[in-house]
Amino acid sequence: MKLCGIEAGGTKFVLGIGDENGNILIRESIPTLDPETTLEAVSRFILKHRPDAVGIASFGPVDLNPDSPTYGEITSTPKPHWANTPILRYLSSRYDVPYGFDTDVNAAAVGESLWGNGRGVDSLLYLTVGTGIGGGLVINGQTVHGLLHPEMGHILLQPYPGETFLGVCPFHKGCFEGLASGPAIERRWGTPAANLSFDHPAWDLQAFYIGQALMSYILTVSPQRIILGGGVMHQEQLFPKIRGRVKTLLNGYLQHPSILKQRDDYIMAPGLGDDAGLCGALALAMRALER
Ligand code: ADP
Ligand code: ZN
Repeated sequence: MKLCGIEAGGTKFVLGIGDENGNILIRESIPTLDPETTLEAVSRFILKHRPDAVGIASFGPVDLNPDSPTYGEITSTPKPHWANTPILRYLSSRYDVPYGFDTDVNAAAVGESLWGNGRGVDSLLYLTVGTGIGGGLVINGQTVHGLLHPEMGHILLQPYPGETFLGVCPFHKGCFEGLASGPAIERRWGTPAANLSFDHPAWDLQAFYIGQALMSYILTVSPQRIILGGGVMHQEQLFPKIRGRVKTLLNGYLQHPSILKQRDDYIMAPGLGDDAGLCGALALAMRALER
């Protein structure tokens, strides 16, 4: 199988050719410019490689309902020029093979569940903490869409005692993403997150917010595993802090060793590393072909 994966992000598009085992054989990255320029470049990549199927893992919000006239569109994004962009229709009208389409984080969850650290569980939550915050869910092999699709980065959290930072989300200011995304860290501390030292107080604050969000997800969805990816999670010291926070917050209410023993195979990093999204896009292509 020759599969094409497209990880459509707000800053860059990562394009890949790979196989049914999640191996990435060719990879290209292009900056996210205006939709016409960007999608034309994606289209050229597809036409050059002539894959059997294409998977699109997109930033959103997106329309995932195949019965909707706007299926496969990026809908209400605040990213200039990208609202109401028919990404799926644009590409499939130029090269006609089976297409898979899902959110970037749902795709990453599928990628991890097939080829990464999500193997062996029936319910997997993949959360990215990067430029934005978003969560994808795979339950019994299927991604959760529902009414639209989950937007786990925009839940409201209890502010840290004495919190004065208002948050950077253009819709909700101090939602999870507004308080704890990479840009939020940069705005709060006046320097890019990657430049903060290993023991900077920023990381305890991050764990305070990420731990709260995970508590809510654990209580609502009860995932058997949680994978935390995205640029901010390159700070590996966050993992034990977050596991500790989750245990403290749940306060003995959930009696499971994954939580009580703060197991490192419950809340963990992606097995596919930064390739989770691109591998996920390949997985969407593979599934589209199988259908
Ligand atoms: P995107 O979310 O745009 O797909 P990333 O997941 O790489 O991309 O997230 C980018 C964000 O992660 C930026 O805000 C950046 O400051 C932050 N980031 C990248 N690397 C690190 C790092 N090593 N430590 C902390 N934050 C980082
Ligand atoms: Zn928000």
